[in-house]
Amino acid sequence: MINRKSANRKSTRPTTRAGQRATHRSLKEQLILAGKVLVAEGQDDFTRGHISFRLPDDPNLFFMKAHSIGLDEITMQNILTIDPEGNVVAGTARRHSEVYIHSEIFKARPDVNCVIHTHPTYSIALSATGRGLKCYSQPGALFYEALGSYTDTINLIRSQAMGAGVARALGKGRAVLLKNHGVVVTGATIAEAVIGTIMLENGAMVQLLAEAAGDPAPEFSRADIEKLKADITQPEQFTINFDYLVRRVKRRG
Ligand SMILES: [Zn+2]
Repeated sequence: MINRKSANRKSTRPTTRAGQRATHRSLKEQLILAGKVLVAEGQDDFTRGHISFRLPDDPNLFFMKAHSIGLDEITMQNILTIDPEGNVVAGTARRHSEVYIHSEIFKARPDVNCVIHTHPTYSIALSATGRGLKCYSQPGALFYEALGSYTDTINLIRSQAMGAGVARALGKGRAVLLKNHGVVVTGATIAEAVIGTIMLENGAMVQLLAEAAGDPAPEFSRADIEKLKADITQPEQFTINFDYLVRRVKRRG
């Protein structure tokens, strides 16, 4: 699967400088919109939280939101380009100290092109219980057997070793709950990572409400959940819903 995806990446690689610039511009525009959608969906925590995307023409490098700005303040000018060691190779803005979440996941997972880290309330509350995400609502199915847990520390992920720990907790999954801290959600596309982040928070919220209400009834069978998981992990599902949220955020100005 990884080989097929890297082959796809090569085949879409722009061959001219102008093509490369156009691709980069379009990716940066998507990152800007993704940041606005995430804030509109309540994923902001002051200036904390970040989003990154792997460059299709140089898969070792990635674009990333800068420090000291909100997720909804990403611009063409302040996006940084970063190498596998976490060094800034282009851009003048300040880099997030948690860059290693992104660099280590990109190293470990060639199929991942987008990484989002945020501090959403219900996901953090669920992580604090030490319990995993149940399939008490449809978003739960997206993360069925695909949600890791990082429990080493509440602190910021400020070293390569810590970033590697998060990547290990992710494994082959879609996302990780960082205990008492936040979430890390991945995707092959920006749309997939953004929609995944929003759905994880929704799934956590429903679970906490169900558990607070009393004794939730058992989940549905594995086969039933897996059928829904197959349906909602279709790439089209992420694109359609991300495009809708982009239109909505633009309408609201
Ligand atoms: Zn954080």
